[in-house]
Amino acid sequence: MSEIRYNRLEDSYVIIAPERLHRPDYMAWSKEDEKDASCPFCEGNEAMTPSEIYAIRENGSFKDEKGWHTRVVPNLFKAVQIEAPYILKHEGANKIWDGFGAHEIIIDMPKHFKTMSEWSQTTYFYWLKTIQARVTDLKKDIRVTHISVFKNNGASGGASQSHPHTQLIGLPVIPRNIERKYERIHSHYMSSGRILMDDIIEEERVDGRRVVRETDSFIAFCPFASEYPFEVMITSSSINAELDKIEDIKLEELSKLLQELFTMIEMQLGNFDFNISISIAPIRKSFDVPYRFEIRIMPRIYRHGGFELSSGSMINPVEPERCAELLRESCEK
Ligand SMILES: [Zn+2]
Repeated sequence: MSEIRYNRLEDSYVIIAPERLHRPDYMAWSKEDEKDASCPFCEGNEAMTPSEIYAIRENGSFKDEKGWHTRVVPNLFKAVQIEAPYILKHEGANKIWDGFGAHEIIIDMPKHFKTMSEWSQTTYFYWLKTIQARVTDLKKDIRVTHISVFKNNGASGGASQSHPHTQLIGLPVIPRNIERKYERIHSHYMSSGRILMDDIIEEERVDGRRVVRETDSFIAFCPFASEYPFEVMITSSSINAELDKIEDIKLEELSKLLQELFTMIEMQLGNFDFNISISIAPIRKSFDVPYRFEIRIMPRIYRHGGFELSSGSMINPVEPERCAELLRESCEK
């Protein structure tokens, strides 16, 4: 059974999760691996996972059988569990929650070997629709106060499974850095009447050096204070948007943009390890200001050391202005 512990010195939360110890080691794939007989996420191996929570399926196919586009299952090596009692305990001055939460795996596609630059726009669309469906469903659970949506890709991205997958963790507490971000967005709106992300987008447009691509409704740029080389942030520019509420026609536009961005980054970095995070608007908080989602693509080219761990500040050896320039050039080729 895992626990969520509060760190009084750092004002942060730590998940102590013994189940994670038994995760398999990451196995690099080779280009030949269309399907892996031992992979629980490959189509045809549905019996190797817990029963599905959700799936986008072909008409006429059945639950936990072949014929799906995306499939969502509980994480076998979960950090938190929905079955855990939702109880706050005290141990002296220390606070402990009994590991309550949701930890789900979205299996992004049936095929084992596909980099995101090789995904079709339809694959992106199904992926985004699945994230929308799971976020919408988890928001109904009144015990969940924060939802993390993220993707680990490759050994340097912390993945233990090479089949394309995304994870979703719902927690009864709001992590410190997220809480602070909400506070900044909220106080900016209260003092200026403007959405912080709108101001950032406007500044990026005026400057222009870090903008990678813009469509009717979305903008992609390398953030001014990028923490990773070739980090790209995507957000909505013309619609007031939480990702789980975007209509299908806009999701199609976003799918096309993501497909283009991954192709551009791969042209610069080759097959690269990365993390993706997708921000979800605050759930039940005194937060009544418009929220714009962001998708962060974080290529993992360099490993972090003691400075990053101890300070929480990243060292990024490549200027974001240069990264954006290279990405724009690769799309012109
Ligand atoms: Zn697989």
